[in-house]
Amino acid sequence: MALSLLSSLRLSLPAMEELLKQIQEYKTEIEAFTVSDEKAAEEFRVKWLGTKGLVKSIMGEMKNVPNEKKKEFGQILNEFKQFAEARYEQLKQSTVNGRQATASNIDLSLPGDTIPVGTRHPISLMTNRIISIFQRLGFAVAEGPEIEDDWHNFTALNLPEHHPARDMQDTFYVQQNPDWLLRTHTSNIQIREMQKGKLPIRIICPGRVYRNETVSARSHCFFHQVEGLYIDENVSFADLKQTLYFFAKEMYGSDVRIRFRPSYFPFTEPSAEMDISCMLCKGAGCNVCKKTGWLEILGSGMVHPNVLTNCGIDPNKYTGFAFGMGIERPALLKYGINDIRLFSENDVRFLKQFTSAV
Ligand SMILES: [Zn+2]
Repeated sequence: MALSLLSSLRLSLPAMEELLKQIQEYKTEIEAFTVSDEKAAEEFRVKWLGTKGLVKSIMGEMKNVPNEKKKEFGQILNEFKQFAEARYEQLKQSTVNGRQATASNIDLSLPGDTIPVGTRHPISLMTNRIISIFQRLGFAVAEGPEIEDDWHNFTALNLPEHHPARDMQDTFYVQQNPDWLLRTHTSNIQIREMQKGKLPIRIICPGRVYRNETVSARSHCFFHQVEGLYIDENVSFADLKQTLYFFAKEMYGSDVRIRFRPSYFPFTEPSAEMDISCMLCKGAGCNVCKKTGWLEILGSGMVHPNVLTNCGIDPNKYTGFAFGMGIERPALLKYGINDIRLFSENDVRFLKQFTSAV
């Protein structure tokens, strides 16, 4: 009697299939389950894994499974339980990640941190301005070494040893090798460009140069120059004059006047200093122009045939002109600075004043 009662409680085969189908449906439901917070994850746990949960309830069916199917069905139930547990862990983790993401959310409406922006140095501003004017005339920028040998700095420029003009350009020598020195002008770049032998040459050479001079408000042991060089067939003094006149007008305004004064440089022949009419007093005479109405801005001339020969260029075929100017002086004038030493003191109070300068 007891036996027959027990067997009647056992599941029939169709009922077992129904149970397997039910497990499959549960799995689909669990898989599709999503939670937005920890509360929802807990609800999932209670519904599926709680003491009165669906996993426990379906495990309870085990007792009704025929003995010969117990092993097989037990495995299915175990897998299902593990599946539900793994999904719960997954959902719980997603709410933790979600919380962290919320905590580190960036408030895009907050004002940003100010990044301090540096300013261009007045020497750079002035150099760039000069370069841009000559670039419009087709001059390309060329650069060269600040530590130079004697030949490129002096001898090639028609300044042989013991030439008296060397005295005006006393400089600093490198102790290990007395042939090395700190260049006194950027003309060494011109020599190096000419030596390349690619003609015509139309270059502008900006850079720092050195002189053994006492440091004062008016002069320094280093300063900056821009030099220019144009070599081609049939280049004349008229080309030199027109080029520099164009430069002066672009740099100092269309009403500027220029004048050339004969001068002497070993590397040019003929040579001339170029003055511009004083932009402060318009030529009437003031303290800046020493009451003359003129300001000296650059030296120039036709490249000496000896210099061309030294660099392997035929002076009977090619001619050219060269010019050079300091950067500090026009910068002092333009920005109303009264001491050249300010340029190299790295005083932020001074440098900050050029934030919007051009
Ligand atoms: Zn003046």
